[in-house]
Amino acid sequence: MRTGGPSSRAARKITDLLVAFADWLYPPQCLICGERSELTPFLCERCFASCPRCGQIPDPLIACGNPPADKAFSMFYFNEGVQALVYHLKYGDMPFIGAFLGRQAGRYFASTSLSGCDALVPVPLYRTRLRERTYNQSDYIASGIGKVWGVPVEKKLLVRCRDTGTQTELSRIARRENVRNAFRVGKGIRIPSHVCIVDDVLTTGATCMEAARSLKNAGVEKVSILTLAAAEKDQ
Ligand SMILES: [Zn+2]
Repeated sequence: MRTGGPSSRAARKITDLLVAFADWLYPPQCLICGERSELTPFLCERCFASCPRCGQIPDPLIACGNPPADKAFSMFYFNEGVQALVYHLKYGDMPFIGAFLGRQAGRYFASTSLSGCDALVPVPLYRTRLRERTYNQSDYIASGIGKVWGVPVEKKLLVRCRDTGTQTELSRIARRENVRNAFRVGKGIRIPSHVCIVDDVLTTGATCMEAARSLKNAGVEKVSILTLAAAEKDQ
């Protein structure tokens, strides 16, 4: 198909005009401070810079003896601003927040051993939960990271075999019990040697660690974890 002809240029101009009009009608607003945002339509430069950066999670929150994941990393520590972004990503029908923050995380961790992994595996939602939400936020985060690292996203490697409900009210030990055997590895899929599990938030690490355990049992040699946000220790 030919592109770039006079009619497509005209169509582009009309699109640009419509976008400018929509911006004038609904100015892009930062989800954290409410001011007009320039960095992206939902986040301003200042708020993005003020989200506390984390890096490698020291002594993974996950002190469960012999942890199945080799390393855990997070882009941010959890604060009110990060919480607002994650909330809109999960419940606000704004999956593009995940893709944007995934690309940022990809750049942030580009020079670590994580970027050399063979596959990114988003933590799957149980099928009924996926139907309710319509999308899995972790798929979008993983696709943003994958674009920067040039690593494939393997959505079918890990399957959630039951609904574990919300874990917010559960203690560290209860969470570990609650997610036990919640995942299985998809049939007929080649097992990569180094997998990086991707999720939105790491609180006690119970979910990611259980996912890591399933992958290791299926023959994955090295499992790393990367999340957008992590709770600070002792929270
Ligand atoms: Zn802002």
